[in-house]
Amino acid sequence: MAECPFCRTEVHNEATICKSCGAEKVDTFWGNFNHNLKKNQHAAIRILAIPGLLVGALVGVSVGTNTTAFIGGIAFVFGFAATVALPSFLRTLIFERNKTYWYR
Ligand SMILES: [Zn+2]
Repeated sequence: MAECPFCRTEVHNEATICKSCGAEKVDTFWGNFNHNLKKNQHAAIRILAIPGLLVGALVGVSVGTNTTAFIGGIAFVFGFAATVALPSFLRTLIFERNKTYWYR
C-alpha cells in the first residue's frame, strides 16, 4: 500500500488516483514529463510571447507582411520547444525516471 502525501489516505499500489482527494499518482516517464511540461508552460508562454511576436514581426517585415504570422508562429514553436519541452524532457530523464510522484 502507498500513502497519499496530501491526505494520508492509503492507496492501492495499482491505483493511480487517490480515492479520497483525487490526487494523481504518476510513476511513468511520460506521465512525469507531461506534468513537468505543464509546470513550465505558464512561465515560458509569458517569457516567449513577446520575443516570439517581435522576431516574427521583424522577420516578417523583411520577407513580406503576409508571412509575419507564419514566421512568428514558427519562432514561437521553436522557442517553446527549446525552453520548455527540452528542459522538461531532460529533467524527467535525469531526475524523475522510474520515480513515483503525486500531483494534485
Ligand atoms: Zn489523497
